[in-house]
Amino acid sequence: MSSQAAAGRVGAIHNRGAMGPFFIGSEIYRGSSYGPGHPLRVPRVSTVMDLCRAMGWFGARYITSPRAKPAALHLWHDPAYITALQAAEARGTATAQDRELYHLGTHANPVYPEVFRRPATGAGGVMLAAEMLRGGGVVHVPGGGTHHGLAGRANGFCYLNDVVLGMKVLQRIGVRRIAYVDIDAHHCDGVEAGFAGDPDARLISVHEERRWPFTGRLLDTGGGNCFNLPVPRGFNDSEMRAVLERLIVPRVVAFAPDAIVLQCGADALEEDPLARLSLSNNAHVAVVRALRGLAPRLLVLGGGGYNPWSVGRCWTRIWAELVGAEVPERLPMAAEAILRGLSWHGPGRAPEQAMFTTLIDAPREGPVRPEVLARLAALEARA
Ligand SMILES: [Zn+2]
Repeated sequence: MSSQAAAGRVGAIHNRGAMGPFFIGSEIYRGSSYGPGHPLRVPRVSTVMDLCRAMGWFGARYITSPRAKPAALHLWHDPAYITALQAAEARGTATAQDRELYHLGTHANPVYPEVFRRPATGAGGVMLAAEMLRGGGVVHVPGGGTHHGLAGRANGFCYLNDVVLGMKVLQRIGVRRIAYVDIDAHHCDGVEAGFAGDPDARLISVHEERRWPFTGRLLDTGGGNCFNLPVPRGFNDSEMRAVLERLIVPRVVAFAPDAIVLQCGADALEEDPLARLSLSNNAHVAVVRALRGLAPRLLVLGGGGYNPWSVGRCWTRIWAELVGAEVPERLPMAAEAILRGLSWHGPGRAPEQAMFTTLIDAPREGPVRPEVLARLAALEARA
């Protein structure tokens, strides 16, 4: 869709009145891979789109993401980097300078066939979502959430930072106070780089301790507006509930935001191969449910998630929650066939049967460990 067509589409949506939840997706994700040895070789957004269609959960709520123009990306990114990223895609390879200056062509950030178009589509979708939220509402962009991207270079599988771009669009259209909540297994270093010290943005991140990028320590306040909670291995649903009740909800409520942006990375789920946390997708749904009524605008993004079954199921279940669709205990055949059709294309644990037959994980409750309680108390003391 051209940006003009997208703008027309947004106008049509506004004219429909109610800003019921909208889903922004794209076919660019289908078949796109960072390469056979990379964690992002697996399908993710296309699975969510296929499952939602199979369940009849889209109706007229699906919108095709526009691709952001290079000039639009200059809202945060360095023009020289954007030019280099486009050139790398056109050339199909990185130069020595690309590797040195922009971290392109590295193991983490390979040059793959859609290396500019795919992140530019994610950014275009999140920026469109921000525009659509002008008058209030809910938008889900599972292709967004690339929270490590830096202004001048790629970082941690993220070439652009659609989160920062979307939040900057919100601010530009007059949505002043933004609460950003990030439940990805990794710390949102790129978003913190974009908004540290901004009194109109409050950043709350829950992430695994002693894991890359090794930022977001408990006592790091990012200039006062950042709340960072590193959590131990095996972090469970009961602990996430405590974090929701004692950190996330009270800090968001106290901030009285005009918009909430939720980065819903699925790599904190038990089955993820890149992290050691143990949440079920019930925890993700609980966070969405708790945040939903706390601001007039809610933007839900994806993020990490490298097990093709758990990430596809999680984000599909989140969409069901947003539209109020009932999730059946047992999926119909058409949806089950989509999950059975996935594969790792490489090493990985064989999935449990439940990964094929239901979207609903078994709860993973457990003790709320003393170190989690102590860290929550330390953050409460900043009130
Ligand atoms: Zn992550």
